[in-house]
Amino acid sequence: MMFQELPRVIADGPLSHAVSVLLEGRVELLPWQHLLGQEDETVSGIYTFGHPVLTGDLMDKAPNVKVISNHGVGVDHISLKDAQARGIPVGNTPGVLDGATADMGFCLLMAAARRLVEGVEIARFGVDQFKPKRSETFLGREIHGASLGIVGLGRIGLQVARRAAGFDMHVSYYNRNRRTDIESKFDVTYKPLHELLATCDYIMLCVPLTDETKRLIGVDQLRLMRPTATLINIARGAVVDTDALTIALTENWIYAAGLDVTDPEPLPKGHPLLELDNVIVAPHIGSATVQTRQKMAELSVQNLLAGIAGAALPNRIA
Ligand code: NAP
Repeated sequence: MMFQELPRVIADGPLSHAVSVLLEGRVELLPWQHLLGQEDETVSGIYTFGHPVLTGDLMDKAPNVKVISNHGVGVDHISLKDAQARGIPVGNTPGVLDGATADMGFCLLMAAARRLVEGVEIARFGVDQFKPKRSETFLGREIHGASLGIVGLGRIGLQVARRAAGFDMHVSYYNRNRRTDIESKFDVTYKPLHELLATCDYIMLCVPLTDETKRLIGVDQLRLMRPTATLINIARGAVVDTDALTIALTENWIYAAGLDVTDPEPLPKGHPLLELDNVIVAPHIGSATVQTRQKMAELSVQNLLAGIAGAALPNRIA
């Protein structure tokens, strides 16, 4: 029997167990550092797991690559323009993570509104040991009946809107393109960004990170928000100006923030945002459930193997 060589794939790691199992015996994995060395014509795929930056220069180190497959929907770390210019299809995993990411957005919204983290600390250490800097220790803000503004009513944003309906929230949204086709079905109202920021109790960011959305929320936008408002970011850290947000939370321009993503990510130890009682920071775990990560692993590996075989990717973004 002839020994068949496996296609060679460069991936950043460590990969999840789900991805490793699916790739076992199907590809030969090479570490990300391989892209930093000599050009290698034998590599046929690149797999991005944990948002490594992938530029055209790095793509040129593997000139025969037939596919770039991303584990996740956000592809701001990959230069799509450079991939297109080189004729390399790029796959990602939209749809399968919408519910989990929207759930996370709601976790953060509820935890920030009801001061859950401070409450846990008080329960654990006692009110004498853990003294929140904010007054009125146990009082949070109401969620049901409040207004929610969704910035980016796409796949994940719509799932957020559906959850908000169950809490009797009044939902408005801002996109570049108004979605009149679904406004009545999902009971959502369109507002320009400045109006959304100025009128909502909760603002949830669900946009992709692009040149247009980088630092979309800075000093001017935070100044527009109500002092009782909470900002939730489940998009990408750089959609928000971190320094401006730190000042806004320190000086109580807004009530609180819940961040699944930050800029930089992770925040360095001792960063002022991590010292504040009115911000909850999670380590980018929006899609991190057993079930969703399994689906992401399956779709991203299907994209990878299809590209290597020269077939159409089940989900191609560029
Ligand atoms: P999507 O379906 O493409 O929705 C994105 C929405 O953002 C669209 O409604 C789009 O509408 C709007 N948008 C795009 N550019 C905009 C701009 N400049 N101004 C205002 N609105 C803009 O994407 P999705 O699947 O919901 O994912 C959204 C993002 O969530 C991803 O790109 C990723 O970065 C992030 N994400 C995070 C996690 C996590 O773990 N926290 C997990 C998954 C995804 P218009 O085109 O009409 O503007």
